[in-house]
Amino acid sequence: MQVELMTDVLGDNDAAAQENQQLLADHNVLAVDLMGSPGCGKTSILEKVIQQLKGLTVRVIEGDVATANDAERIEAAGAEAFQINTGGMCHLNAPMVRRAIDKMDLASTDLLLIENVGNLVCPAAFKLGAQFRFVVCSIPEGDDKPEKYPVAFRTCQGIILNKLDLIPHSPFDTEKFWNLCQQLQPEAVQFATSCTTGEGITELCQWLTEQHSQLTSA
Ligand code: MG
Ligand code: ZN
Repeated sequence: MQVELMTDVLGDNDAAAQENQQLLADHNVLAVDLMGSPGCGKTSILEKVIQQLKGLTVRVIEGDVATANDAERIEAAGAEAFQINTGGMCHLNAPMVRRAIDKMDLASTDLLLIENVGNLVCPAAFKLGAQFRFVVCSIPEGDDKPEKYPVAFRTCQGIILNKLDLIPHSPFDTEKFWNLCQQLQPEAVQFATSCTTGEGITELCQWLTEQHSQLTSA
């Protein structure tokens, strides 16, 4: 019975995600969903992207179990933020995203960045309607995360390895990490970043800009 119930929940969510995707496509909005553990640097990456990305209007949906701390950081960085408090739930779902999208001026939005609740498990199962889902992983978490959370990596379209500046202080084996990623999802676009040194942020901004221009020229 429980399996059946979960299937229904996911089916309803998929239908809502499809509607979100259509709505975003109708307005030429590029949407990217970021998933990763608490503390891997999702909000810091968004802050850096907002500060460096030129020529695109960015809006952010912040998913958290509680508080508006991250939305406040996003607004301080210069983008309009829509905070969703899930009230204990450990992932965003498509209807929650829809409620935020309905409050947003989609016509003037180029890029929608969605920070999912910090969690490497269930955000992978709940589609939101974003064209891309990225997994963010950071050096202190250890190089074995792809094999411990294979679904997250297997189903993503992009991977960001963050906190590169901590490599000298860590046994993290970057070659092992990227090999595991490659085995699970060879198609994923890969970035390596540090929000302390700014490394890799330019490349990420360039990629986002290219994806947006492909969207509008299609
Ligand atoms: Mg955050
Ligand atoms: Zn969850």
